[in-house]
Amino acid sequence: MPAVQKIAPGRLYIGGQWVDALAGGTFPTINPATEETLTRAAEGRAEDIDRAAVAARKAFEEGPWAKLSGSDRGRILWKIGDLLEARVAEVAEIETLDSGKTITESLRVDVPMAADCFRYFAGWASKIEGETVPVRAPFFNYTLREPLGVVGQIIPWNFPILLAAWKVAPALAAGNTIVLKPAEQTPLSALRLAQIAEEAGLPPGVLNVVTGFGPTAGGALVDHPGVDKIAFTGSTSVGQEIMRRASGTLKRLTLELGGKSPNIVFADADLDAAVRGAGNAIFYNKGEVCTAGSRLFVEDALHDTFLDKLSAFTAKLQQGDPLDPKTRLGPQVSEAQMARVLSFVDKGKGEGARLVLGGERAPGKGYFVRPTIFDGVRNDMTIAREEIFGPVLSVLRFREIDEVVRLANDTPYGLAAAVWTKDIKKAHRAARLLRAGTVWINTYGLYDSAMPFGGYKMSGFGRELGHHGLMEYTQTKSVWVDLS
Ligand code: NAP
Ligand code: MG
Repeated sequence: MPAVQKIAPGRLYIGGQWVDALAGGTFPTINPATEETLTRAAEGRAEDIDRAAVAARKAFEEGPWAKLSGSDRGRILWKIGDLLEARVAEVAEIETLDSGKTITESLRVDVPMAADCFRYFAGWASKIEGETVPVRAPFFNYTLREPLGVVGQIIPWNFPILLAAWKVAPALAAGNTIVLKPAEQTPLSALRLAQIAEEAGLPPGVLNVVTGFGPTAGGALVDHPGVDKIAFTGSTSVGQEIMRRASGTLKRLTLELGGKSPNIVFADADLDAAVRGAGNAIFYNKGEVCTAGSRLFVEDALHDTFLDKLSAFTAKLQQGDPLDPKTRLGPQVSEAQMARVLSFVDKGKGEGARLVLGGERAPGKGYFVRPTIFDGVRNDMTIAREEIFGPVLSVLRFREIDEVVRLANDTPYGLAAAVWTKDIKKAHRAARLLRAGTVWINTYGLYDSAMPFGGYKMSGFGRELGHHGLMEYTQTKSVWVDLS
């Protein structure tokens, strides 16, 4: 049976049941490589979010979930990881059909890393500890690390199954229950995850999946008084809107937002490694990556050689059918996203940047944008300031470290940054000075379930992954005992 047909079409997953949206609406999800409809998803709205939040509350307070030990929760999480791994081919196919990312990335990165994330947090579930605190006599004091309750999780379309795992796994490890709202462009892998979680023994109501649109389903989740926290990944503007609206119920928030990450190549870098690194930093997942190295700063002395080599590297990237294992560049996720990317290309040209490569839609079906390089970019141009979220690179020059750090930090964002140099002092000095939540040295775009990830400045706050990520799904209770 084709992978997509294994998903209950047009249904929401609430309280362990596959149900229609109350208003009965559905919407198509499109394969961006063919522009054809894959299937239809249920259009969940406020009343469905309410049902899901009520089911999650019940599971948090009454269900078997609340009574499970940490190690029993861990066992279920581990099983989810194992099932994801066992189903890697099928889940990867769903992900590639829905999002346009290459099958090689889905098979080798997204699904295996999602499985690893569940197993990583499985280990933590039995290791969430409070402290005893030495206060004045005659008191004996301790803290309890407790779950928050019901958490609402809103994810984007660029890494659907992986970002679902980043959010669901730590929340479950800490004992919370969840209402998950995937992006309208890529609803399918979250529904498959719900099926897998059920198969792994997750009790009804612990994980609920409501597909639907941002302003309606997402907004209702943010407003719902029965939801204790919102964990959001997406655009900075929606993050700001969520922060405003969440104040009504004073929800806890973690926000993982946009970026305009600087990738800095010094003249003493390992040239071939830096060229590959710079190319992958912007063209991986067709540039639809929040940490994309979209501003490439090259030291003056190296500039011309570097640009030649990078252009040659880029020209060789095979673009086309994302299901073909040789393909390196798939289509943008949607027609709207393609149009948005191309409008930035027009702005780049209009503001006087020099188009070196690409800059246009590829002919034929599918939302393909040619990998694009602009040289002669100034840091005040639109293409150097705004998140494009597509395969469009801005190349800038610099002469020395203080200058490049100043330029690199001259952005409202602070998600990630990278430096390429063989000089260990220069590398670590830059790492200290760059205002970003992640700095890579002589590499780019690496993640690990154990390593915290998140933003500085307008790239958001809170951390995902690692022990830091786990703690974001807990709260501390202080207990006083009078021993007199
Ligand atoms: P987005 O609107 O921020 O979408 C992210 C998620 O938030 C989706 O699930 C979306 O639902 C939901 N959402 C939208 N409006 C909402 C609201 N008012 N209340 C609650 N939830 C809401 O991102 P996008 O429009 O898909 O992409 C636009 C730009 O965002 C991209 O071009 C890129 O610059 C940036 N982006 C950043 C990241 C990242 O990882 N940092 C990821 C994706 C996009 P719908 O799917 O129904 O809209
Ligand atoms: Mg789709």
